[in-house]
Amino acid sequence: MPPLKPHLRSMMKADQVRRLCLCPVCGKLGDEREMVRVGPMGCLAHDRCVFEQLGEGILNLPQEQRVKFTLAAVGPDMMRRLVADAKG
Ligand SMILES: [Zn+2]
Repeated sequence: MPPLKPHLRSMMKADQVRRLCLCPVCGKLGDEREMVRVGPMGCLAHDRCVFEQLGEGILNLPQEQRVKFTLAAVGPDMMRRLVADAKG
């Protein structure tokens, strides 16, 4: 494949940057599609960072945010509660 034209490359880069945002908890970048929206400002943070801050409070988040938590972030016990609560 020939190398990408410069303007195409910059478009791709812009697209990647648009999907990243800074986590207010750990100060690192994350993919906004995978991050959880919390708080009155609606800021996005990593699932593991939100869990670190809120603990069981994540069970009170709206369903569309709760589904973003991963087993790796919250552990099997909280994951079970998230799932069980969603069904009930
Ligand atoms: Zn974070």
